[in-house]
Amino acid sequence: MSNVVLIRYGELFLKGKNKKYFENVLLDNIKYNLKKFDCKVSKISGRYLVEGYDVENEESIIAQLQKIFGIHSVSPAILIESSKSAIYSHFRNLDLSLYHTFRVTVNRADKTFPVTSYDMQRELGAEVLMHNKHLKVNLANPEIELQVDIREGGYTFIFDKIIPCSNGMPVGTAGTGLLLLSGGIDSPVAGYMMAKRGMKLAAIHFHSYPYTSEQAKQKVVELAKIVSEYSGSIKLHIVTFTKIQEAIHKKCKPDYMITIMRRIMMRIAESIAMQNGYKCLITGESLGQVASQTVESITVTNNVITTLPVLRPLIGMDKEEITVISKKINAFETSILPYEDCCTVFLPEHPVIKPTVKSACHQEKFLDIQALIDEALSNAEIIE
Ligand code: ATP
Ligand code: MG
Repeated sequence: MSNVVLIRYGELFLKGKNKKYFENVLLDNIKYNLKKFDCKVSKISGRYLVEGYDVENEESIIAQLQKIFGIHSVSPAILIESSKSAIYSHFRNLDLSLYHTFRVTVNRADKTFPVTSYDMQRELGAEVLMHNKHLKVNLANPEIELQVDIREGGYTFIFDKIIPCSNGMPVGTAGTGLLLLSGGIDSPVAGYMMAKRGMKLAAIHFHSYPYTSEQAKQKVVELAKIVSEYSGSIKLHIVTFTKIQEAIHKKCKPDYMITIMRRIMMRIAESIAMQNGYKCLITGESLGQVASQTVESITVTNNVITTLPVLRPLIGMDKEEITVISKKINAFETSILPYEDCCTVFLPEHPVIKPTVKSACHQEKFLDIQALIDEALSNAEIIE
């Protein structure tokens, strides 16, 4: 008899010939995430199995599994040999003093096992009742459902909890996207959402030292770390934006400042993405949240992108909905630390709400855009 954790994965991605590939990526992700627990992870029919761990770590292992995309649910279980005597003796010794109602559910995948699931359910139910006089059977809505899963190969799982996990797709099955990561609430959530669809992440952050502080940068490193708990390791590109911002401030109309900044950020981000083989850009924009996120502003910013798609997973979400996810992934407390973002430096009082491509291009004529971009790119720093 041993303690194990059963892992179920979603069915969604398991259609067609990619099935094996998805299964293997998920298995690797699980192994990687559980490395520190010194346990064995293997694939059994339609599931994964974690075994050989210190029982004291079971809760931590389950908490870790809940962060892995592609897992539907897990159950801490007892693994015993598939024999009537072993299963019955386990049921005889269960401590069910906390419960009032129960049911037994048997699944017999091993058709050579000599008792049918229906008979087994009744017999095990009777066994439980005999040793727990206070209990009653409730098939529709029991306080505890004792589940017996008799597998081919002579082993049986017994469990009573099905713990929901993150669902989604295994990270690494959808290429790598470059997340534009600010210090705010939205962009870490945007990264989390894309990781949930199987995307591995890289990130880019623009800072304006000395207008923005070293702590502001550290905060972004911390946010990348938080997101990486779900997405796996993140390569963070840090780009100094100071000179660009000073130039825009000096040469361009104040109401177009943010528009031009965004357009240059996009150009730099796309350039870094192309150099590194990242497949798309990801932003935390949500329609109408601020002046730079009206559909006109998004049009003008998007206009400088030549090749890659820009994914905006939060585009239709309210701040409240975004905040719920930010709190769920433990990013919120870090996101609200009061360090300045480069977008708040030289902030104009009235940013344009409906910019046009024509005016933006006109303003950019006052800048040597390519030189500014090249310099920023050549000074980019990388943090793993
Ligand atoms: P967030 O909460 O993510 O900071 P926000 O509500 O503050 O978003 P904006 O400041 O308009 O919105 O930024 C929109 C998006 O542009 C951000 O979600 C992020 O993807 C990107 N962005 C903004 N500032 C930076 C920055 N300094 N470095 C990298 N990306 C940035
Ligand atoms: Mg912001």
